[in-house]
Amino acid sequence: MNHRERSKSIQNSWAEPYRMKVVELLKMTTRKERISNIRKAGYNTFLLQSKDVYIDLLTDSGTNAMSDQQWSGMMLGDEAYAGSESFYKMEAAIQKFYGYKYVIPTHQGRGAENILSQILIKRGNIVPGNMYFTTTRLHQELAGGNFKDIIVDEAHDPFNEFPFKGNIDLQKLEKLIKKYGAHKIPYVSIATNVNMAGGQPISLENLKAVRKLTLNHGIKIIHDMTRVAENAYFIQQREKGYGQCSLSDIVKEICSLTDGATMSAKKDALVNIGGFMAVNDFDIYEQARNLVVVYEGLHTYGGLAGRDMEAIAIGISESVDDYHQMARIGQVEYLGRKMESFGIPIVRPIGGHGVFVDARSVLPHLSQEQFPAQTLASEIYIDSGVRTMERGVVSAGRDKYGNNIFPKLELVRFTIPRRVYTQAHMDVVAESAARVISSAKKLRGLKMIYEPKYLRFFQAKFEKLSS
Ligand SMILES: *Cc1c(COP(=O)(O)O)cnc(C)c1O
Repeated sequence: MNHRERSKSIQNSWAEPYRMKVVELLKMTTRKERISNIRKAGYNTFLLQSKDVYIDLLTDSGTNAMSDQQWSGMMLGDEAYAGSESFYKMEAAIQKFYGYKYVIPTHQGRGAENILSQILIKRGNIVPGNMYFTTTRLHQELAGGNFKDIIVDEAHDPFNEFPFKGNIDLQKLEKLIKKYGAHKIPYVSIATNVNMAGGQPISLENLKAVRKLTLNHGIKIIHDMTRVAENAYFIQQREKGYGQCSLSDIVKEICSLTDGATMSAKKDALVNIGGFMAVNDFDIYEQARNLVVVYEGLHTYGGLAGRDMEAIAIGISESVDDYHQMARIGQVEYLGRKMESFGIPIVRPIGGHGVFVDARSVLPHLSQEQFPAQTLASEIYIDSGVRTMERGVVSAGRDKYGNNIFPKLELVRFTIPRRVYTQAHMDVVAESAARVISSAKKLRGLKMIYEPKYLRFFQAKFEKLSS
């Protein structure tokens, strides 16, 4: 049985490739308590206390469950200030599984983005990428660059079934090169399993074509490899010629087509904190090794404890295991299919790290000024204690003239932490969403009563509209 056939069997019954050795007890709450909790939190799920949440699908960042191997690795952490043994283990894992030569640890992904952007980007440069990510783009801009989105158009249509919505539109890239000149473009920024598109993959065929085009112009490719193994799984399942390949081989091939990478280990690498940058060019490495001591720490710990680096080294090898990824993405798919069976409108195809519900079609009687996705997220919490988050007009914020940005997509994100919940939890989540949606007609919208200046979705407060 090849890899693709093996994972096809998940359409019948399948189970997680692990069992539980330690459990964390959850607090159950009553509806009355939840109504009071969400009111106190200003109808913003970010402001709920985690102890009041039953199933937490706010994010997949740093919320992973570590394995017994990782926990025992924590005890082996070498906490030396310089030359920690744990650093060398992490470095060896990155070289072995990703193939990059030189490694700089950082406290998390954005630490690596800061350093690499400062080294590679000059004022006035253009940085093309397959859709932006918040912190990645911000560091590119702080370094003086201008981000340009060159993802395929399909990525902006939530119901388009295109299997590789993370692909680069080569014509858009060529146009940019023509317009600005290759010397203005230090690198193309490529994310694997594009977060903001809903966890959608880039194909190897597309990446190879981008590599060919950029090599002709002497432009580098920098890889945001935060979810590279999840991307590799979709390639194994969907791309011609890769059904027989192991995830590990596919991951390595993806990395081999790029010049360097930044990584938030809080996602794919199955830990709670950490990140790194990795490059093949010695000169860039040398500059990074010098800069890291300014922002993070010495180049053999970069803001991480030895035990964190130990856990990352083990997490990387677990993340490229075929059965792990089959269950990880299989669980996301399980939730998505369950929701579809209840008639809930979700973004298609189902992505790698979460399911996104279209709040506009669920609450057609609310205008975007009445925050439909924020409303739906708070009602789902009231119904079952399940915490999700808004990805719509609140997240989009305001433009430079102070006007609300009204994005096309008004979504509620159900993000699934790795190895934390069971399929039974997913049943409860889908049933709760269906229950809330079945009586959605009578739901009233929200009014914003407090709005912070930056990234307002984290801390904004709301009140129920009275009619
Ligand atoms: C989370 C994330 C980052 C930033 O990483 P942090 O560890 O949160 O600093 C960068 N890129 C992508 C795609 C991410 O999902």
